[in-house]
Amino acid sequence: MSEKEVEKVRCLIIGSGPAGYTAAIYASRANLAPVLYEGMEPGGQLTTTNDVENFPGYPKGITGPELMQDIKAQAMRFGADCRWGMATKVDLESSPKKVIIDDETEILADSVIIATGASAKYLGLESEEKYKGSGVSACATCDGFFYRGKHVAVVGGGDTAAEEATYLAGLCEKVYLVIRKDYMRASKVMQERVEKTENIEILYEHNIKEIYGEGVVEGVQLFKKQGTAEEEVVDVKLDGVFIAIGHTPNTDVFKGQLELDESGYIVTKGNTSHTNLKGVFAAGDVHDTRYRQAITAAGAGCKAALDAEKYLMEL
Ligand code: NDP
Repeated sequence: MSEKEVEKVRCLIIGSGPAGYTAAIYASRANLAPVLYEGMEPGGQLTTTNDVENFPGYPKGITGPELMQDIKAQAMRFGADCRWGMATKVDLESSPKKVIIDDETEILADSVIIATGASAKYLGLESEEKYKGSGVSACATCDGFFYRGKHVAVVGGGDTAAEEATYLAGLCEKVYLVIRKDYMRASKVMQERVEKTENIEILYEHNIKEIYGEGVVEGVQLFKKQGTAEEEVVDVKLDGVFIAIGHTPNTDVFKGQLELDESGYIVTKGNTSHTNLKGVFAAGDVHDTRYRQAITAAGAGCKAALDAEKYLMEL
């Protein structure tokens, strides 16, 4: 690698969802001249959401992509340098930290804010892909409102699925909870909550075969007891399908350096964005298994930039 390709920055932000862009707003206003790499999906998970109605400041709602454009524009107004590119290799233990972008550009950074987010897992069906944003969602809090009085399915048997089903039951007429096993993995308290909710019907040992509809979701075909002698296909008419089979934090590149929990999320210290490595901070869904909202991610981005600023002042 030639000398020319090495760049020195005070604050490097990896990731471009609400956490990354908000960190960029705060870091640029603190004169840290942040450089932000947007990653595989500029704008993050929100770019796959049509309408965002719960982000404060937008009384009429806003689309996910527009919201991300707005936060990015706000960061750029104060001089944040937002660039295309993925962190493909890192040495976060060194000082300064070394980050390789797209296998070729080397960045030396005094501080690094990681806001690479998490990706919702999907079933991998072609029809699921087809209806993403028009009937298929991975976030009940974001999209549940659009299904008021309607029939929906939630897929998954963990705490997220149980929580989403209960939340949706408060809005929808009927919620089917589709679980592939003959038991629920969710915690006892969540299971009880689901079982006590009258308009939730649990479909154990069911798997989605296909989602169908003319332009929007109109129903699903389910395998009941798939792969057994009793296998049958069941048809359920409904308006929306919420996939809640877990998330994968985007932390592969940091493995072996940053402390991660058993699911791969970055561990932060107390109520701060500090990781186990000095000068490395985490914000947003990459460390948050609990709230996972655009607004909480934005708040975490703010915290990370403030922590980075303080760290750089003390350097
Ligand atoms: P989990 O990994 O706990 O559960 C995923 C669920 O999806 C499981 O029931 C799993 O089935 C099912 N699943 C996975 N892949 C498929 C597939 N291809 N088809 C059908 N079903 C599938 O993820 P969660 O997001 O629910 O939870 C993640 C973590 O966050 C957990 O530790 C959870 O406790 C925590 N959490 C805590 C909450 C709280 O405390 N309020 C709220 C939400 C989450 P199977 O069981 O067969 O593997």
